[in-house]
Amino acid sequence: MTRDPDRFLGEEVDQLVAAELDWKLRVLGGPSSPWCTVDGKKVLMFCSNNYLGLSNHPKLKEAAIEAIRTHGVGSGSVRPIAGTMDLHVELEERLARFKGAEASLVYQSGFATNSGLIPQLVGEGDLVISDALNHGSIVDGVRLSRAERSVYKHCDMDDLARLLDEAEHHAPNYRRILIISDGVFSMDGDIAPLDRIAALGAEHGAMVYVDDAHGEGVLGDGGRGIVSHFHLGRDRVQVEMGTFSKAFGVVGGHISGSKNLRRFAFNKSRTWLLSGSHPPAVAAACIAAVDVLEHEPEHVERLWRHTRRFKTAMRDLGFDTGQSETPITPVIVGESSKARRMSERLFELGVFALPIVFPMVAKDRARIRTIMNAALSEEDVTFAIGAFEKAGRELALI
Ligand SMILES: *Cc1c(COP(=O)(O)O)cnc(C)c1O
Repeated sequence: MTRDPDRFLGEEVDQLVAAELDWKLRVLGGPSSPWCTVDGKKVLMFCSNNYLGLSNHPKLKEAAIEAIRTHGVGSGSVRPIAGTMDLHVELEERLARFKGAEASLVYQSGFATNSGLIPQLVGEGDLVISDALNHGSIVDGVRLSRAERSVYKHCDMDDLARLLDEAEHHAPNYRRILIISDGVFSMDGDIAPLDRIAALGAEHGAMVYVDDAHGEGVLGDGGRGIVSHFHLGRDRVQVEMGTFSKAFGVVGGHISGSKNLRRFAFNKSRTWLLSGSHPPAVAAACIAAVDVLEHEPEHVERLWRHTRRFKTAMRDLGFDTGQSETPITPVIVGESSKARRMSERLFELGVFALPIVFPMVAKDRARIRTIMNAALSEEDVTFAIGAFEKAGRELALI
């Protein structure tokens, strides 16, 4: 048998291309701002996770530049050896205060957080119970653990209660039980019933872990996230996980909770221990992002004002916008090919929004996923609604 490594690379991608499951990369020629240059064309950004426009906020940019002047461009090491700078420590203190938690810990990314921490929280003899639509980084973190896995139907609390009851009668008894859920689900924009998850967790002595990547900067008091949104006590949700790469506008993952959680996490998470820490500019920009959220509440307010206006307008036009309760608004169009055509037409009309198709969503539920942005002006929102109306009529969707 002859092996040709390059051939299998090409063949496997060709299969994806044939099934229309490959990614075609769009390239931004400048910052992720409301009007940006994508593949050389000026368009309205309608699909970035930069909810509050912070990725191009002057205070964040200044903080990053200043940190390069004072601390250089690299941290020089992993956090536990020589890669913890005063900026990393300050960020964790500021974030914990913002979240109203005893302590926070910052990882390189949200993915590194889930894939590094989950396999330490549970192992052999433990059970992890996960929502069916949880993010891939949770799925991978769970796979890396040696725990038994159960999946409950998306946001279905009866199903979760049933699995917890079954777990009580399991012999031998599980050592630990971990319930884990996204806070906001990124394909539909619906919110996990964290109040009920937390109540079930308390009833059954299970640990509750919420991944609030799409809830931070969006939900709760001043964008403090889903735990604040449901007014839950810290004792009810043991791990509040999030990311600096979405509403915070930079990059990085984090957890907030008790002092013991922080000590446990940094002594055991392999991603945290074995991969280089953030450059000082990243830590400084993240501190500035927390600062902006604390002192400029208008960004979160504008985000919600635009969101309400856009959702109402889309429904009035006759679009199906699903179950969303957040600034993620899916515009459901049906078949995958329709979603692709709609996205292409919107791009021609000057709006950049991506199609989400099978297998990410059901075959007949393909959609354009829009994400609102606080940095848009009222006129920009009007422009986007106009483009959706035009494209929707041309494709006979409305
Ligand atoms: C984006 C996302 C992540 C990954 O976060 P990064 O910081 O980009 O690695 C994890 N979980 C959820 C739910 C996400 O949406």
